[in-house]
Amino acid sequence: MELKKIMRGIRDKFPHLPERIAGLRELAYNLWWSWHPEGRMLFKLLHRQGWHLSNHNPVKMLNQMDAHMLKTASTDTHFLRHYDSVMARFEGYMEPASSWFSAEGRELDKCAIAYFSAEYGLHHALPFYAGGLGFLAGDYLKECSDLGIPLVGVGFMYPQGYLRQLVSADGWQVGACEMLDRENAPIHKLMDENGEPLSIRVPVMDPPITLEVWMVQVGRTKLYLIDTSSQANEPQNRIISDRLYTGDREMRLRQEIVLGIGGARILRALGEDYAVLHLNEGHPAFAVLERIREKVERGMSYHDASRLVRDTTLFTTHTPVPAGHDAFAYPLLEKYLSSYLPTLDLSMEEFIELGLNPTRPGEFNMTAFALRSSAYRNAVSRRHGEVSRSMWQPLWPNLPVDQIPIDHVTNGIHVPSWIDRRLGSEILCRYMGRTWLEEHDESRIWNLVCEIPDEVLWNHHNSMKSMLITKIKERARNKWLEGGAEPGQIMASGVLLDPSALTLGFARRFASYKRPTLLLQDIDRLRRILNDPWKPVQIIFAGKAHTDDDQSKMLLQQVFNAAKDRASGGRIAFVEDYDELLAQYLVHGVDVWVNNPIPPMEASGTSGMKASINGVPQLSVLDGWWIEGYNGKNGWAFSGAEDGLDRDAKDAASIYTLLEKEIVPLYYNIAEDGIPHGWVTVMKEAIRMNGPNFSAARMAKEYADKFYHPAIDAYMMEKRRRERGFIKQDHFGKF
Ligand SMILES: *Cc1c(COP(=O)(O)O)cnc(C)c1O
Repeated sequence: MELKKIMRGIRDKFPHLPERIAGLRELAYNLWWSWHPEGRMLFKLLHRQGWHLSNHNPVKMLNQMDAHMLKTASTDTHFLRHYDSVMARFEGYMEPASSWFSAEGRELDKCAIAYFSAEYGLHHALPFYAGGLGFLAGDYLKECSDLGIPLVGVGFMYPQGYLRQLVSADGWQVGACEMLDRENAPIHKLMDENGEPLSIRVPVMDPPITLEVWMVQVGRTKLYLIDTSSQANEPQNRIISDRLYTGDREMRLRQEIVLGIGGARILRALGEDYAVLHLNEGHPAFAVLERIREKVERGMSYHDASRLVRDTTLFTTHTPVPAGHDAFAYPLLEKYLSSYLPTLDLSMEEFIELGLNPTRPGEFNMTAFALRSSAYRNAVSRRHGEVSRSMWQPLWPNLPVDQIPIDHVTNGIHVPSWIDRRLGSEILCRYMGRTWLEEHDESRIWNLVCEIPDEVLWNHHNSMKSMLITKIKERARNKWLEGGAEPGQIMASGVLLDPSALTLGFARRFASYKRPTLLLQDIDRLRRILNDPWKPVQIIFAGKAHTDDDQSKMLLQQVFNAAKDRASGGRIAFVEDYDELLAQYLVHGVDVWVNNPIPPMEASGTSGMKASINGVPQLSVLDGWWIEGYNGKNGWAFSGAEDGLDRDAKDAASIYTLLEKEIVPLYYNIAEDGIPHGWVTVMKEAIRMNGPNFSAARMAKEYADKFYHPAIDAYMMEKRRRERGFIKQDHFGKF
């Protein structure tokens, strides 16, 4: 039975949609609209207020529109003209004559890549992310769609993925997890022909667990999301997919079994064949086991199957922070995997060896397991490559550190998703050529950025900045209107922000290695910088602490209290509820993006790339991508101090000095025409440098060239040899 064919899609959605504009159904359920301005404009044109009220979510908007309004639109010639043109572009995108990948001469259909990740940041209507790892994965799916890389994604549908952050009057994060409104999100549950949810059983657990599957269409890329909430499951199993990264070890193990083994079973059940397995971080690494099991079931030996799987698996490691590498106690593994492993012909002892981390024996380490199970391995920046090679050297005790087989591909961002619409489709189109986006990983076209008149870029930036401040004040006003907030809280949320003051942005997940309070180290010196009457500076902070992480909540409290403190003069703001939408406003609208983790903990970092592409230069410690990105002209850098008691004080002093001596004077060096030309030159350099080098297009092509192509070749060679029967089973291991 080919499930793919009998699945019901989104046919039943929006029953009140008139036939003439029925294409909106497919469009609303395909995130293509989220990175194509013309797609967003079409929905906005359909119902401007509804677009705003739905928080830019077309599924919610269409569900709420009445039949009469839709009928009117379906006869409105102005709307229909736009509709037809957008639909034509959408269809052209979905069925292209060629793509970057197909132009490379690969066999598209037969060589898919299965991409497994515990989180995806795609759009604020789909809160399946915690931070950078998720956005990297989300941006990657979009880019693979753009380039025609035949990839399917697997992840979790977290119904309680979203933490609505609220901060109490004394600065404590008290947010609660909010249930996702599934009917109004651009995802749909896969159903069988009888209208029943498609369900896939994972017998690994006792009692076996039933998985349901949701799908997100990301342009041409499909993303399957696992849902364990089926009523068929025992209560303790229903909650497995509730939330990202629970602190409970056993629950975490259950999640990872469901993601890896369950995810692989889902692909099998859906008939999604794949040649290459790409593990994004260690969480889904058990997918390797299921892939081996399938081959053992078909008669291969464990040895041959594991060899073949290894030769076609890529593992990407994302962090040097120890807590980012899951490890499990042996008794837990025995509890869950002791009846599963024999189906692979793998003993518990051999399995445990595969997950051994020599520096921390006694636990099963998911990263060690993933590293041993993959022939291709990479870190996410040049520096992170070096750090990972020395971190994992104990796995290859006979190799010198520079030969440890962990390569790197520096992260990049999906440019169409993060560049401001007007900057991208008006300004860059005008000065870099209409087709700039199609070739945006070519550095030569970016030299044309210097053709943009300073005035054009400066005015554009200032309109983005006032938009940001307007949005922040709108949130503050709503909070005030709702009642219950104290005036101090409203002050802290940014109502005194000044659109003409130099504005620093610091927004990211609150975690201690990212040092969110570093800027506050010497508060008196900082306040002198902020409250300079002629050259004022202000800082906008945003970010969430993990619900289980009180230490980070304390850091957040310090930031909030500094914002609330009268002595800060309203020049420090903490904006609640950092999400994809707020990130968009911030990376478009602040003047400088600040980043100051403890080196070398930031594997790459991507938010600074999102800012740079919008002409917002970065002030960052030399770590992660900034070591490759900083060229002396596109922002500011300082080398972190040596580890020691005074490290934070020294690093903060480096930042203050840069602000006092370089950044503030440059910003306020305004010519007679009202433009700080020196500053605009830095802005242009930030765009020019970031565009080609830190784009997901460059990144995805590197993944394909370095890893996917050789892995696909290995897979095809093996497949052909087996089809021809040239080699006997027991020779597979040698290839
Ligand atoms: C890009 C992004 C991140 C990652 O930011 P880093 O500074 O790289 O950690 C986190 N959250 C959101 C909402 C983002 O858009």
